[in-house]
Amino acid sequence: MPSVKYHKGDMVMGRWPGSNLYYEVEVLGFEAKSQLYTVIYKDGTELELKEQDMKNSFGFQPRSRSRSRSRSRSPGRRRGRSRSPARTTRRSSSRTAAAAAIAEGTPPSRRDAKLKEMVEVRLSPLQPAMAAENNRDNRHENKEENNTANKVNETEPEKNQSRYNLRRRKDDSEPKPQLKDPRVAPRPAVTVSTQLDFGGKIGVYFWLLFLPCWVLFVILQVNLEDPSLVNFPPPLPPLESFWDARALGLVILWILFQALLYILPVGKLSEGLPLKSGERLKYRTNGFFAIAASVAVVAAAVHQGIDLTYIHSHFLQLAAAAFLISVLLSVYLYVRSRYVPPERHALGGSSGNVIYDFFKGHELNPRIKSFDLKFFCEMRPGLIGWCLINFAFALAEMKQQGLDAPSYAMILVNVFQLLYVADGLWNEEAILTTMDLMHDGFGFMLAFGDLVWVPFTYSLQAYYLVSHPNALSLPAVAAIVLLKFIGFYIFRKSNSEKNAFRRNPSDPKLSHMRTIPTATGKSLLASGWWGVVRHPNYLGDLIMALAWSIPCGFRHLLPWYYMIYFTILLVHRDSRDMSDCRRKYGSAWDEYCRTVRYRIIPRVY
Ligand code: NDP
Repeated sequence: MPSVKYHKGDMVMGRWPGSNLYYEVEVLGFEAKSQLYTVIYKDGTELELKEQDMKNSFGFQPRSRSRSRSRSRSPGRRRGRSRSPARTTRRSSSRTAAAAAIAEGTPPSRRDAKLKEMVEVRLSPLQPAMAAENNRDNRHENKEENNTANKVNETEPEKNQSRYNLRRRKDDSEPKPQLKDPRVAPRPAVTVSTQLDFGGKIGVYFWLLFLPCWVLFVILQVNLEDPSLVNFPPPLPPLESFWDARALGLVILWILFQALLYILPVGKLSEGLPLKSGERLKYRTNGFFAIAASVAVVAAAVHQGIDLTYIHSHFLQLAAAAFLISVLLSVYLYVRSRYVPPERHALGGSSGNVIYDFFKGHELNPRIKSFDLKFFCEMRPGLIGWCLINFAFALAEMKQQGLDAPSYAMILVNVFQLLYVADGLWNEEAILTTMDLMHDGFGFMLAFGDLVWVPFTYSLQAYYLVSHPNALSLPAVAAIVLLKFIGFYIFRKSNSEKNAFRRNPSDPKLSHMRTIPTATGKSLLASGWWGVVRHPNYLGDLIMALAWSIPCGFRHLLPWYYMIYFTILLVHRDSRDMSDCRRKYGSAWDEYCRTVRYRIIPRVY
């Protein structure tokens, strides 16, 4: 068995990764398997180090110790640091040279330049807004700590230390904002992404081509009598058949109509979560009003004799028009993102590569005055448009098959998907805590997704039923309805739990919940639905997707496309989120993963 040189509680000098600088650290433990020591720096950062990166502190002279001592007297810094209970209970410490230089705004030496980039976001105090929220979190945590029932903190006091651990925090996707200290020179925010999604800079070329081609493929395929996916794709229609000025006009009109509903001073003004700058954006969350008004207008239009089956007969042209708009919008978004300050960039879409950033979205929350383009596109034209398209397909089915009423299968698909959208709009505020709104920039990926992918591929089941009827018995209908409601219950409960907790961690209604504190001041829910699996909302969503596909029968794979695609999407999204959370929460996240072992499906995955 290998001997362990340092032991828990030892104060030694630890090398800062990527540099030759050593700082005083406390050893927290040693893992024999990986041969790594877990150490904590004096600013609260936790890292794993190899033995060769550690030295005995005896006789060791850290660089520029005098400067770091002088920094420790800064009242501004003391105030900032005192927000963390760990920091107040730790011995007051001198700050490292580079960190002190950074905090003071004095130019660090060239050797420290790389280090500066790594540590500047970590060592900064929070802005008051963020600090206030953290204090609220802490209040919740404190309260939790005092309670007796099933608390992680109490049952495992040792692990409680993980609150202040942030392993690999140099990659933290949400750098903390700076307190406005007049002595601190303004510094550009670190905006360079560390990890690239979607196959990186080469991969996005593939996605840029593949996504529109796939939409075209399924639209052409679903029209075939035998839309088997193993069949050779139908020949491409002539180019001019994609273009229809009326279709383009209708798509533009629809978007403008939704924009008008969005800006009307009806409904609540909700606050988003704090941004890097500490600012909280306001959003007009009147989505339910928008869908109700849209239903009224569409009903009036049908009453006036407007033939909505035009949507069925010109589906390809409408999709092409929406695609054109999404491309123009993405170009506009990318160009404007070049002119906004770095703190408004999305970390994930700031690789410096034009195509990648165009695809992923460079600016986090592009706005024209108070009109939030991402929020609007996410929730309105595409989502409500999807329901409109489904309704048009129900009319087309009646027309094509000479029915007085739509089939059971068509009714189920229409009602289920309408319920999904209406629920999303009723709980529109909850989207403000999702990944798309909080982390992803607005670029081609979301613009195309919102305006083309959602309305023109999510409606595929209804499209399929127009010319591929599938008779359902009443017991089958009842069983499918039950499945849908089980999925809906899990989906809604879990999303609401998380949203309520993120909005107000000290909400008395949540005081019975078990939580795991993290170094960022936020806690993680570890009971309720978030104690069953790590993404219970995905589980509910997948069960609902199943209930949407079954009404189309089992003759073809095409109407199951949504189920298959959605499973892949959510598994990928889950792994993206897992690595983001691992970066954000360090060992607290590991602890959550140990407590909640399965990702999406209990005992399976
Ligand atoms: P989530 O709403 O699950 O958001 C993930 C974030 O939640 C994490 O980054 C973390 O953020 C926070 N979180 C994770 N675990 C916990 C925990 N234990 N306690 C508290 N907070 C936690 O993911 P999505 O944004 O992907 O999905 C939102 C909904 O939208 C889901 O229901 C999903 O099914 C649905 N969806 C639907 C799609 C569709 O096309 N139909 C596409 C994508 C999503 P932090 O800690 O920073 O707050």
